[in-house]
Amino acid sequence: MTQPIALAGIGKIARDAHLPALQRSSDWHLDATISRNASLDGIRAFKTMEDFLADPGEVKTVSLSLPPAPRFDYAIKAMRAGLNVMLEKPPAVTLIECRKLIAEAEAQGVTLFLSWHSRMGAACNMARDRLKDARLKRLTIDWREDIRQFHPDQDWIWDAGNLGVFDPGINAFSILARILPDFPHVSKTHMIVPEGRETPIAADVAFTHPHGADMTCTLDWRHDGGPIWNMEIETDQGAFTLTRSGSGIDDGDGEIDLGDALDEYDHLYARLAELVAKGTSETDTRPMEMVADAFLLGTRETGAPFDW
Ligand code: NAP
Repeated sequence: MTQPIALAGIGKIARDAHLPALQRSSDWHLDATISRNASLDGIRAFKTMEDFLADPGEVKTVSLSLPPAPRFDYAIKAMRAGLNVMLEKPPAVTLIECRKLIAEAEAQGVTLFLSWHSRMGAACNMARDRLKDARLKRLTIDWREDIRQFHPDQDWIWDAGNLGVFDPGINAFSILARILPDFPHVSKTHMIVPEGRETPIAADVAFTHPHGADMTCTLDWRHDGGPIWNMEIETDQGAFTLTRSGSGIDDGDGEIDLGDALDEYDHLYARLAELVAKGTSETDTRPMEMVADAFLLGTRETGAPFDW
């Protein structure tokens, strides 16, 4: 038996990942969309959250795949109406917004799921198991992609209050928060901000690890070709690379077959169903805190202008 869910913000990630995952889901069926511009055949369509909340039908849960700036308001309104809410990453624009979202969920007794899609797969579970009793020596994050592939014409990503290249970078940080038993903190950041834009196109980050492991991160949106989302990890028990943004593990001879057929968004919606069934929330804000610290500490250099 599936439960009805509403999806708000029918944009790139909704079409690439949320709608296919909902179609495959054995927990959910899409009952309504909340979208200023789109509608889907056979699905109830509302233009605004207010319109939807006036006629939610049987829907008790909404998933918000909007950019972070407009998402906060949608989330607060939905929770005040007694609905469970799943949020795309990053959870909000500021840390205080994160706190307010969590407080609202507690006050209303609803489920709030701050989702981190990159860390849902079997490879992250395996990395976490390998690191549990090992001593980390080195961890190098190499996160490069072509901005035009994953954020085509998304001007909002360059506005202050958004993360620029930390929008994919926060995925790497979400994996760190999932797999490392001893959590590092950001100690140094250098960012390149294109002339006339407000958020970085590239950044180098260094971390301080509690046991002195060498931890660095390179983020770059000026990359040609397919994405590189790798995390090289060296411990006293061996070395491996977490590949494809936490989806694969390579011990040096190619990726191991993990036999995990589920897409990360399949895992997200299954997890949402578990949280709703238990009446609990999942609200890990550490990846967002690391990005906030990177911005607080970051030195900035003006780079070449960027145009689509
Ligand atoms: P997007 O396509 O630019 O925007 C998604 C949708 O949000 C838009 O199509 C629009 O939907 C709605 N929207 C945008 N601005 C709005 C506003 N001011 N008020 C109300 N609704 C607004 O962005 P996206 O790439 O899907 O990213 C959305 C979120 O998913 C971001 O937080 C991003 O970090 C995360 N994400 C993106 C990717 C990716 O590959 N792009 C991957 C994973 C996660 P309507 O036209 O339907 O109103």
